[in-house]
Amino acid sequence: MIFQLPELPFKPKDLAPKISEETIQFHYEKHHKTYVEHVNQLVKGTMFEDMELEESVMRSSGEIFNNAGQAWNHTFYWNCLSGVEQEIGSTLLSIIQDNFGSAEYFKDEFLKAATHLFGSGWTWLVRDAGDKLTIVSTSNAGCPIRQGLRPILTCDLWEHAYYIDYRND
Ligand code: MN
Repeated sequence: MIFQLPELPFKPKDLAPKISEETIQFHYEKHHKTYVEHVNQLVKGTMFEDMELEESVMRSSGEIFNNAGQAWNHTFYWNCLSGVEQEIGSTLLSIIQDNFGSAEYFKDEFLKAATHLFGSGWTWLVRDAGDKLTIVSTSNAGCPIRQGLRPILTCDLWEHAYYIDYRND
């Protein structure tokens, strides 16, 4: 299977000024694209060659996992973003309130997890097997589906996700 770089669900300029067009262009057209190209090269002639990307993420290790995980994580990340600021939908809001007490507390806890992650990685809102929502962080290409967790929201905390716009801040 040849993995494709999926289209962005928004235009690169749509997230400015929070995330600039230049950041999105580098992040999508250079970083995400390179992960997809690498995983395509790496799976050739291996047991992963005919698998869906998600299955490779679940079963691979080493360099194949690093690139498959990053390819999957970035597609998920783009689909978490929108150029239109929106309130949390009422169904999700009530689930978040049940799990975290309030949307504000959830946001604080998510931010705390994201800003305390050491090194490169991702912070996620996930649903566990018991339908409980929790916040987890993963290092490098780590992806919660490997732990049987269902991702709902993610934030990319690799420097390439923010460095053009925010430098060390
Ligand atoms: Mn990234």
